[in-house]
Amino acid sequence: MTSPTVCVTVDFDGHAIWLQWDPTLSPAKMGRADFAGTVGLPRMLDLFAAEDVPATIYVPGHTVEVFPEVCRRALAEGHEIGHHGYLHKDHTSLDIEAERREFVRGLDAYDRILGLRPRGFRAPGGDLSANSIPLALEHGLSYDASGTAHDYLPYYARVGDAWIPDGPLALGDLVDVVEIPLLGSMIDVPQMEFLVRPPMPGLHAYDKILKMWCDELDWMCEFQPDGVLSLVLHPTTIPRGARLRVLRDFLRHAKAKGARFLRHGEVADTFRATHPLS
Ligand SMILES: [Zn+2]
Repeated sequence: MTSPTVCVTVDFDGHAIWLQWDPTLSPAKMGRADFAGTVGLPRMLDLFAAEDVPATIYVPGHTVEVFPEVCRRALAEGHEIGHHGYLHKDHTSLDIEAERREFVRGLDAYDRILGLRPRGFRAPGGDLSANSIPLALEHGLSYDASGTAHDYLPYYARVGDAWIPDGPLALGDLVDVVEIPLLGSMIDVPQMEFLVRPPMPGLHAYDKILKMWCDELDWMCEFQPDGVLSLVLHPTTIPRGARLRVLRDFLRHAKAKGARFLRHGEVADTFRATHPLS
């Protein structure tokens, strides 16, 4: 019998995301980032250890520079760290040279501070530019975790699509970068966070969020039992107050469904081994 795969992923955005959203350095905003690095992620790592679950943690290079110790702890405890840009810029707003600088500056931070070459990438904000996958290929990354062309199954990325004015879309070619799906309903922030800017109504009842996440997993188990479901969590949000209970209870529900927990690098390796790119 096929076991469903659950991936616990964390976008540890740190101060970098607030510097994009609100560069006034408001102490209230900076405090949220301080919480993520000093309280939130350590609490999540404690829970992952207690539940014996591995995670994949996407960290902007800037955040590695601000919070090196908790990143080292995550690696020492067996979690994977993935590329998440340098300053969490919107890569769709950058030309290829500016995006390449962000990409390389991130790689430099991982190497210099953690001695690490990430195996995969998740676009800041989950949005890829047309140049993001070519840059991942250029730097030898194995996978991207921003995929939207399937809800549960990994697939190979495509590059070189061309829009012909007043004509058909010319599809590009598949390349050797595995796309791992990102499902919006599995992101904690829109459900849990209240923000004025950018507007985020959040603050839904915890039992409602838990039910939604369990429903997504149950549906996958029924209709796509070989699928991969990735939680997308933020240390500024889910470990604050009682919300962490939602994560703990979801992990226990997934275990009861017989789920196996994989890091994203393992998902990419498994997909490549079973679906060679011809
Ligand atoms: Zn992010």
